[in-house]
Amino acid sequence: MKALTWQGKRDVRVEEVPDPRVSEPTDAVIRVTSTAICGSDLHLYEVLGMFLRPGDILGHEAMGVVEEVGPEVTGLRPGDRVVVPFNISCGNCWMCDRQLYAQCETTQVRETGKGAALFGYTALYGAVPGGQAEYLRVPQAQFGPLKVPDGPPDERFLYLSDILPTAWQAVAYADVPDGGTLAVLGLGPVGQMCVRVARHVGAGGVRAGAPRDVRVIGVDRVPARLGLAARHAEVLDLSQGGDVADRLIELTGGRGPDAVVDAVGMEAHGAPLGKAAQTAVGLLPDLLARPLTERFGVDRLTALHTAIRAVRRGGTVSLSGVYGGEVDPMPMMDLFDKGVQLRMGQAHVRRWTEQILPLLTDSDVLGVDDFATHRLPLTDAPHAYEIFQKKQDDCVKVVLKP
Ligand code: NAD
Ligand code: ZN
Ligand code: ZN
Repeated sequence: MKALTWQGKRDVRVEEVPDPRVSEPTDAVIRVTSTAICGSDLHLYEVLGMFLRPGDILGHEAMGVVEEVGPEVTGLRPGDRVVVPFNISCGNCWMCDRQLYAQCETTQVRETGKGAALFGYTALYGAVPGGQAEYLRVPQAQFGPLKVPDGPPDERFLYLSDILPTAWQAVAYADVPDGGTLAVLGLGPVGQMCVRVARHVGAGGVRAGAPRDVRVIGVDRVPARLGLAARHAEVLDLSQGGDVADRLIELTGGRGPDAVVDAVGMEAHGAPLGKAAQTAVGLLPDLLARPLTERFGVDRLTALHTAIRAVRRGGTVSLSGVYGGEVDPMPMMDLFDKGVQLRMGQAHVRRWTEQILPLLTDSDVLGVDDFATHRLPLTDAPHAYEIFQKKQDDCVKVVLKP
């Protein structure tokens, strides 16, 4: 079969590789009909090469048709249309019993000390071949794949693999009070979905009560992304200058949004926070009396710092953006002083899919049908990675068709 493989930094290629097989009784193999590129794939493309081997198959947002199932996969049959969650969970361990599917103890990779295995996401997460391919072997298929109805186009359901549950969890964790304000930093695919979920379902809706009205302010600097979000919410353009945290505070009566979602993560800014800067912050008491912008240096501030500065006292910062390595900012003093709740983590995909699915079946409330800006054959995946990373050609989301 053909698959998109990682070869080196910013070097991905479509290659001929062996077809996957059912090798465990709980496996299924699906024929992939649509598979998307995620901002997390850009981390692999750009910075996490040390955890990949040339030839690793990327991709964790896939859907398709079941080809073959192992004997323990009783809920699926060949021909079923399914969407595959990006994290691989067993559905019945201690963590899964608590719906903490991203921490599944059956699939977690003990040697690397990480949570549940992920498709197409490096040796850190189990080195499971990914879904940007013609076929995908799905471990733990007795639990993971979600059957979706025939009829609507693939893209109605594709985003259940990742960005919709990720956004849903971000909004649920943000816990915006009735009539409150949510700021969403970053209007990539995840941020766009956060804006839509918050506006159309509301904070109460994601907690399974009646929908409640939430004011939403989206922040980015890419015109196409701001334009798309502006159809659903207020937007703030980073490139207009000024301090975004101050502008958000101003827009919310001087207090700050009740919650801020960081849907940016680590690739957002150039300079990682060096050890020296961190030590200096820790050692010099007079520095501690200064605002974050001075302590860390404006050019070193991450979106997470902006979120922490902008959120109102006693509010919540909800992170879906991923930080790691040297880009691991944690201004504890500000968090403590402001009494901020911080919630974060990989999305527990299957925890939210049953709630989201009804919003997708009868109509397209969240506007997913025309969300993809680019639909390309799998063979064009190298070009797709390039335009998605460079945000060229108004690219917001790419769907690959194997
Ligand atoms: P993306 O890279 O397409 O989007 C990031 C957006 O942030 C871009 O539009 C960029 O212009 C904007 N941006 C950069 N710096 C900013 C700043 N300082 N303030 C505001 N906006 C800024 O990525 P994506 O696919 O939307 O994913 C976003 C993040 O979510 C990534 O870190 C990704 O790894 C992570 N993610 C997490 C999960 C999870 O389970 N928690 C799932 C999917 C993605
Ligand atoms: Zn993803
Ligand atoms: Zn489990």
